[in-house]
Amino acid sequence: MGVLLLALFLQDPDPATAARLARSIELFTRYTGACPRTLEDLVRRPDDAPFWPEGGFWRGALPKGATWKDGKVRIGNASIAVSPGDRSAVVPPTDALRQFYAARIRLQLLRAAVEEFRDAKERLPKDASELGDPWIDPWGKPFRIDCRKKCVRLSAADSAARSISPERLTEDELRALEEGAKPRVSEAERKAIRALLDKLFDDDYDVRKEACDELVRLGPMVGPIVAERIATEKDPEVQGRLRRLAAEFPERPPAWKAELAPVSAVVAASRSADPDGDCGKNFSSMWRSIAWGMKGPAFPSETGSAFWLALPGAEPTNLVCPLSDTEPKKGICTYWGPASDVNSTGDGDPIGMCDDEGHGDFVVILRKSGDVDVHPRNGPLHKKALEKLKR
Ligand SMILES: [Zn+2]
Repeated sequence: MGVLLLALFLQDPDPATAARLARSIELFTRYTGACPRTLEDLVRRPDDAPFWPEGGFWRGALPKGATWKDGKVRIGNASIAVSPGDRSAVVPPTDALRQFYAARIRLQLLRAAVEEFRDAKERLPKDASELGDPWIDPWGKPFRIDCRKKCVRLSAADSAARSISPERLTEDELRALEEGAKPRVSEAERKAIRALLDKLFDDDYDVRKEACDELVRLGPMVGPIVAERIATEKDPEVQGRLRRLAAEFPERPPAWKAELAPVSAVVAASRSADPDGDCGKNFSSMWRSIAWGMKGPAFPSETGSAFWLALPGAEPTNLVCPLSDTEPKKGICTYWGPASDVNSTGDGDPIGMCDDEGHGDFVVILRKSGDVDVHPRNGPLHKKALEKLKR
């Protein structure tokens, strides 16, 4: 009995579902420029919405017993805070852009569903059928769901052709997107924020602390109003305090720009893994710790993956991409290496790359300086790097 209860407890699906719901609320906020008032808002098209993706921001019935209040999603004992966003909406002006952004939304809902599956069952789905009804992209084709051992790759059927880069937008499109992204902060909210800013200079510490906490809770919409205040403030000490507060609200690219990303994503088997970041970390820490400890020009002169295998002290687990289905083993390296002797290449030259399929539409490139970048697969920087690299 005790064992059964423990098993039930361990498989509590609530935290996983709460996390998925939190993702939906984040997406809703990012796209509409406002927090949902109720969870029903995620699925109900508002009358005045300038843009609404077909199917909304949640697929299927809302989870029973879930609540959304005071910036927190709660299901059972699970509770997750969701950032209030920056109040700038994505308002695509053309059908092509509406379809593209709808695809980005659905992709991220699908990713959240796969993560929910992984976290609730503590394993990745074996195939797409485990995720229920097919997920269809806005162009009418099912999403590709590639279930591998260490990750699940998700993409629209023709993700490379579907992606839109900022350079491809027309002047009119750009103008419309920028107009739609203007933060919607009401005059009442503006007033409230200004009043809180005044309280930052109260003699009473508790009053200052409370005002500061409240401003941080209100989120990014506070940023521009603090910036206005800094511009007009004369007292250097007050300015200093305002600047420290402003640092809580770093300027970020508007959602319409940040979302001009490929219609593809990767879910890693490990909850804490960042699919592209981890491979890069692996790579750069190995390079830094091993190679920088060596006295140059003593690097192995081997090229391609043989270079990495020849590096003294490189462990097999450091030589295989964490998303790869290849098992780490002596003499195996999944990374590309330099095309010529590393001892005579420049600091900025690429010396390693991971193009494992697990990274989907991206590749991870390591430079001799130890810097790691993630670039679109087959993009100009990937192609340029290939000139200096060898498998
Ligand atoms: Zn990799």
